[in-house]
Amino acid sequence: MRWLKTLSAGVAAFALSGMQAAPSTRPALSMWRLDCGSIQVGDLNVFSDTFAYVGKSKTLTNSCYLIRNGDRLLLWDTGLPGENAGQNSSLGSMTVVVRRRIVDQLAEIGVRPAQVNFVGISHNHQDHIGQAADFPQATLLIGAEDFEATKAGQNANRIAPWASGAGKVEPIRRDHDVFGDGSVTILDMPGHTPGHQALLVRLRSGPVLLSGDQFHFTENRRSRGVPSFNADRSDTLGSHDRFEAIASALKAKVIIQHEPTDVAKLPAFPRAAQ
Ligand SMILES: [Zn+2]
Repeated sequence: MRWLKTLSAGVAAFALSGMQAAPSTRPALSMWRLDCGSIQVGDLNVFSDTFAYVGKSKTLTNSCYLIRNGDRLLLWDTGLPGENAGQNSSLGSMTVVVRRRIVDQLAEIGVRPAQVNFVGISHNHQDHIGQAADFPQATLLIGAEDFEATKAGQNANRIAPWASGAGKVEPIRRDHDVFGDGSVTILDMPGHTPGHQALLVRLRSGPVLLSGDQFHFTENRRSRGVPSFNADRSDTLGSHDRFEAIASALKAKVIIQHEPTDVAKLPAFPRAAQ
């Protein structure tokens, strides 16, 4: 009767979502785009399983986001590891650089690490979980399968506060309403990794979709490309369909987190989008 349980849980979740605050009564959101480094990709073809980028290279940006809802804060993705800030280092076959750690950027807008209530992780790759451990008091919101895989893998130190059992973690299996008022929703988008997620942020100026790594750059989105290192091709394409349908239905602004030209879609730090 597992299906019945699942159905009951689904109905309960639907009923709860019906009790969310009306959009007009939600606290106004602010969203800051943080610089989480850049990645020089020498062989762009790793982002294709159809030989679309043989012989090409590209520099990707790496971005993270701070979202404020009233007096509560969500940090979405935590970038590349911060210990090598200011110098080039390697990540597999790629060269990466972190100019400023997240904690230093947050200090500029008067936010201390202990004030961050939630750390949301799009997926468990090292360019997204790198500085999570700088926020040990936050509740970690991460795809359940990605959490289990990270705990058992070589990057377990990146989520040490939660892997050890000390920190509070909410492993996520479907969509998740971060603040309980419908303003910010983690979207289940498996494929890049089994627990990969995107984020819907309903700003007063209009909805924004943060891609996670559903796509890595604009052309890769347009051509429905699938990186050769993705966990599951079918899941990736299914998630791609869902992402585009949501973007279209909500007329959302899409931000591809690794796309350098998408930087300009949001105000330059320390200004925030609202
Ligand atoms: Zn990435």
